[in-house]
Amino acid sequence: MAMNKQIGIDLGTTNTLFFMKGKGIVLREPSVVAKNSVTGKVVSVGSDAKKMLGKTPGTIAAFKPLKDGVIADFDVTTQMIHQFFRKINTGGFFDRPSVIICIPYGVTEVEKKAFEDAAYDAMSKSVDLVEEPMAAAIGAGLRISGPRGNMIVDIGGGTTEVAVISLDGIVAARSLRTAGDELDEAIVNYVRRQYGVAIGTSTGEELKKKIGSVHPSADIEETEIRGRDLRTGLPSVLRLTSADMRYAMEEQIEKIVDCIKHTLEGTPPELSADIFDRGITLAGGGALLRGLPNLINERTGLRVNVAKRPLDCVALGLGMGIEEPRLLRHVVLRR
Ligand code: ADP
Ligand code: MG
Repeated sequence: MAMNKQIGIDLGTTNTLFFMKGKGIVLREPSVVAKNSVTGKVVSVGSDAKKMLGKTPGTIAAFKPLKDGVIADFDVTTQMIHQFFRKINTGGFFDRPSVIICIPYGVTEVEKKAFEDAAYDAMSKSVDLVEEPMAAAIGAGLRISGPRGNMIVDIGGGTTEVAVISLDGIVAARSLRTAGDELDEAIVNYVRRQYGVAIGTSTGEELKKKIGSVHPSADIEETEIRGRDLRTGLPSVLRLTSADMRYAMEEQIEKIVDCIKHTLEGTPPELSADIFDRGITLAGGGALLRGLPNLINERTGLRVNVAKRPLDCVALGLGMGIEEPRLLRHVVLRR
């Protein structure tokens, strides 16, 4: 008889990760789906579909079914999860996994239910929900059960989530719809404004990862990119530096810093003292931005740590809970 598989799902706006009990992270794919717009059939999912973003022929549309942390297209999300199950050889009728899925903090009941239903409809046997900041904190190795305060800042693609956690619960939190995607767009706009060159958002993202910096101490070299000169309409080559990236992202980064500061202001004094001692922990892909710990440290006076594997943090947190159920005892949402 087949063993019941237990899977933790981090269904992010940008990336989806699966953790399987006994196996670790078994899937790491972009949350992208390509669909035939005539037949409505899903053509591909994940990295195969991502390659089609922005360059699909008329009949095929590639898109992201989640937006700002929540499910924007329910049917497509369900199909995406199901296809991912197939990739890891599960989700057949006799092989339905038990699932723990993360939901962003502060979403509505309807949005919450969409996560639950999508996981069920994708062929799960049972579905438990965990708030994402809790999973991120566990994955980052923070001790969330004790009476002391921890601050976790998860910067993903669509949202930045700042949470203060103590005694297995979220004490104060804020969510901001400014994160990685907006940084990419800010870079695109900057290059257009400053140099009169048009680039796509995937080039913007590439630049961010390659030479992006938010603090002078973290600047690195420069790089060359190709775009389209807006004056002549012809392809052109452009050299950009880390300083360019800093100017480009300044405004959005400021919003993220403000969000952290406002959350600190709303934190009970005893817990603030703990955060002062322990510092802030960064997770999510945005935690990899060069110079971000330095910048946040300068602005808040607090020590800033980056989780060991920021992109895997949420999935690892779920995984630790699957392997060691007592960790999630008070964390799984009761319905
Ligand atoms: P989500 O939880 O929303 O799916 P992730 O935590 O997977 O998001 O992070 C995705 C975001 O992280 C994207 O905006 C991506 O551009 C950004 N990112 C990934 N690697 C880096 C890096 N090295 N530097 C800066 N940003 C990065
Ligand atoms: Mg995430």
